[in-house]
Amino acid sequence: MYYDSGKVYVEKDDQCISCKNFTKGVACPLLHALGLGVVTLDGTMCVTNCGFYEEFKRHLKIVDIGKSKQKD
Ligand code: SF4
Repeated sequence: MYYDSGKVYVEKDDQCISCKNFTKGVACPLLHALGLGVVTLDGTMCVTNCGFYEEFKRHLKIVDIGKSKQKD
């Protein structure tokens, strides 16, 4: 993650990618403050333990279409 010219950039290896605050579009306190320019980053920051992280768990259900058609 880094901040440049008024924008916050999140990179693939950032914790933000799997964070509920990021994936659900909820304003995270840190990203919000950075976006508003209330706080600034001095250089590059790696998000490994921001203190606000909440894991986003995906709940996927795999359906076997072949088996469900046989029942009909
Ligand atoms: S809470 Fe932390 S990990 Fe989540 S979006 Fe904000 S900075 Fe990223």
